[in-house]
Amino acid sequence: MHRVKDFLPISTIELLQKQGYFLFGHAAVKTCHYTKQALRSKKSCYKQKFYGVQSHQCIQMSPASAFCDQKCVYCWRPTHTFIPVLKSQSPQVVGVDSPQEIVEESIRGQAIQLSGFGGFKDVNREKLAESKLPKHAALSLTGEPTLYPQLPELIQAYHQQGISTFLVSNGLHPEMLERLIKNPPTQLYLSVDSPKKEIHDSLNKPVFSDSWKKLNQSIELLSQFPSRTVIRITCVKGKNMQFPQEFAALIQKGNPDFVEIKGYVHIGFSQYRLPRNCMPSFKEVKAFAQEIAQHLGYHYKMDDKESLVCLLVRSDWKDKSTIIPFRKLFPKAFEEQDAHMQKWKERQAKTKK
Ligand code: SF4
Repeated sequence: MHRVKDFLPISTIELLQKQGYFLFGHAAVKTCHYTKQALRSKKSCYKQKFYGVQSHQCIQMSPASAFCDQKCVYCWRPTHTFIPVLKSQSPQVVGVDSPQEIVEESIRGQAIQLSGFGGFKDVNREKLAESKLPKHAALSLTGEPTLYPQLPELIQAYHQQGISTFLVSNGLHPEMLERLIKNPPTQLYLSVDSPKKEIHDSLNKPVFSDSWKKLNQSIELLSQFPSRTVIRITCVKGKNMQFPQEFAALIQKGNPDFVEIKGYVHIGFSQYRLPRNCMPSFKEVKAFAQEIAQHLGYHYKMDDKESLVCLLVRSDWKDKSTIIPFRKLFPKAFEEQDAHMQKWKERQAKTKK
């Protein structure tokens, strides 16, 4: 495993560690707010509601925590404030860590970050026992994961451990998406925040001049993916909540299974770049989602008010559940979990006697 300081300046390492990031090589894990909530029987994340992801068993990680080639104004992460932005499209790094090392270290990092949870009075003990066996990896923490050259192998390595994957990409590396078609994540997200190049340039502030062309190439590749695909729009009031018809035309090129319309939230480092009134209300996000659905011919399926997000589905999903059949996808991993929980319950019963 490479050293973190081979990739990040000390000041950034200290900042990220203070914020609860578990850093290793060029990768990172940070326990998600909703994982902590779920372990205390509070609200889980909207992906649990929409797709059945178990928030208490989710590893929020990035294989490229130190690299991004956009400077989105709405980004809450410390990216581009403290994390070096790429200077060239093929970063000369000292070397990359192997997919297997990253999977193992991310699982170890998650366990370390959750180790203190047993001390909370309101912790859900059964969920805590289950959290020892992570079942999902969200490759959406910081940086751009498609910059990690062995990403298809990393996805495969997680799946071999019975861990499903959601990959969130800025779509600026169609050559990597092409390689992922053979080894796709359980669900692939493309962030598409602009129907026009000018808005893309001002909102996402891409580092490289050909980014709009690359993004369009990635959108077209979506239709070739054998796994679920999602286009997610982050709505920033006064910036991109317009041109629903143009958005629909762009989305149509990728024919994604789902479209998530999500309101920008005024948190983290984005507060240095955007005023609070750029955060839309749920009512405004819903109205914009319904406009896009109409132009796109997609069906308004459900929403999560607290997370300011609406789910549109392609017509073939209108009467189908969007919950992922995880047990069917990873039967062995769930057999192991059942055996682990059976033993746990027997121990619980013994201690109660
Ligand atoms: S899927 Fe995302 S929001 Fe949900 S628990 Fe995992 S990291 Fe958090």
